[in-house]
Order: sequence, then C-alpha cells, then structure tokens
Amino acid sequence: MNVGRELAIGVDIGGTNLKLGAVRPNGELLAHESVPLQKNPDGRADIRALSVHVDRFIQRLPHGCRIAGIGVSCPGLLDTRNRKILHAVNLKWENVALDSFVKPPGGVPVYLEYDALAGALGEKHYGAAQGLPNFLYVCIGTGIGASLFVNGEPYRAGLVSSLNLGHMSIAFDGLSCACGNKGCLEKYVSAPAMRMRLNGKNQSSGDGPDSDLLQLAAQAAASGDLQAAELFRDAGQKLAIGLVNCLQLFGATTVVIGGGVSQAGNLLLDPARDELAARYRYAVSPVGLVQARFPTLAGVMGAAATVFAEEKLI
Ligand SMILES: [Zn+2]
Repeated sequence: MNVGRELAIGVDIGGTNLKLGAVRPNGELLAHESVPLQKNPDGRADIRALSVHVDRFIQRLPHGCRIAGIGVSCPGLLDTRNRKILHAVNLKWENVALDSFVKPPGGVPVYLEYDALAGALGEKHYGAAQGLPNFLYVCIGTGIGASLFVNGEPYRAGLVSSLNLGHMSIAFDGLSCACGNKGCLEKYVSAPAMRMRLNGKNQSSGDGPDSDLLQLAAQAAASGDLQAAELFRDAGQKLAIGLVNCLQLFGATTVVIGGGVSQAGNLLLDPARDELAARYRYAVSPVGLVQARFPTLAGVMGAAATVFAEEKLI
C-alpha cells in the first residue's frame, strides 16, 4: 500500500452493519471492513462501540496516510450542516450529535450525509452513474431508500435530501405497514419481505444479512429454479410499479439499482425492465435500468466522495 497520499474515511452506518473504508480521490478503495452494528439491550445502536470501531480502523491505516476528512452515511432524518442525527428509527437515535462519537485525529473535518444520497454519490463519482446529470438511485436492502439527481445536483427539500420510496404505496388495499400506509413498496421488495415470502412466514424474518437471498439468486440462475426465479420476477415487477410512479413525477432517464438485493442482477432487473416498458410508454426517452457498481459499498464510497467534494479534491 502506498502511503503519504490523501484519502478519506467513509463510514456507513446501516441498520445491521457498520461499514468503513479508506478511499482515494480516484475511487481506489485501500481498505475496508464490515462489522455487525452493536446494539444496547434497549435496541439503541451503541454509540461508544461505534466510536471504538472508527478509531480502530483509522489507527490500523499505515503511518503517513494523510486523512482529508471523515464522511459518515446515516439513515433517518438528519441535520447534515450541524452534523446531527435528529431521528433514526432503525438505530433508535434521537438528537445524536455526530461529533459525540466521531472524533477524528488532528481535527480533520467530518461530514454527515443521508445514506441514500451517499450511495448515489458513490455511484455518481465512481460507479454506474458517472457522467449522468439526471438519474434516480434506489437502494434496496432492509428497506428502500432513493435519491434523485437533477442537472448534476441532488434533489433537496429543506433538511431532506432522500426519497422515501420504500413507503410509496403500490397497492390500494395491500399489506399493512408500520408507517400507517398499505401496500408500501418495501413490504414486497426488500430483503426482509422477500425472505419472508421465501420462508412462507407471516412475520418478517428480521433484518439479517442478504446472503441467503443472494445464494438463492445464484442457485436460480445456475439451475433454473422456477420458484426462486418467480420470487425475483414478482419483486422486479412490483419494483417497476414504484419506479414508474417516481418517473412520472421526476422524469429521470436512468435508474441505478443498488443495495444488497441488487446483487440478484438481471433476475430482478429484467422483469423490472419489461414491466417498466409496459407501464411507462410516454417516456420522453428510453429509461435505462442499471445495476449499481457498488451494491454494498456505495455508502462508504459516497461518504468518502462527500469529503473529497467538500474539500475540493474531486
Ligand atoms: Zn410504509
């Protein structure tokens, strides 16, 4: 590993995992790790453990690395300017100051960004959305988050700069959701929802890793497993309904699908493309539906890109 050159630390706080990466301005990922997010007995994400992981990751970097800053990707409602997590349901955090647990060496700057927007930034600077001024990024994992770029800039409305696509209804009298709505997209197209359908359970099987789904996808692709293929076909079609609703509003010409579930690739995307074409005939131009380059690391890459952009290094 070359040392002595600038890098940014990308920290992605997810509902189940904490991911960290050391990234160069050109997108080279020098080191990364993923650890389970530790939670207190009351279910709150353990702030102290998180702080220890970040410190330890930085200390393990070779001596001489110049850290330009630390970028943190987080779910929930954020005050990014003042680096505060106002409300994060999955973490059970209320009014948590980022500065209380990310204390960088040498006083380097720290930036906070919405997880969906960080993912989009990762794809925009280093992945499938490079060079695209207008695109919709959709991250499908435990839930579904999205972010929209218009004329090269992320859509922002006040404090909010992510789209809550997972709680857009695609069925008038569909499955009940904790948010109060019915037929929310993520009740059908998310890792827990798809696992639940696979297992034939009435209750979600939780927020565990997506590896079981991915193994199934690989199995389906290799052996022509019709049941597995049907799971992804159905999810792809329902995903397309949600995307059409978005596209009717915003008219993006490219949709980048990321998150753990996107690793199913064309098992999910081909049915989505067919359904999208059938339901979105008045598109100004054909819509490209593409797989993210970083299905699980876009948040880390985007958090690092946030640092480089703010520090005028990219
Ligand atoms: Zn909902």
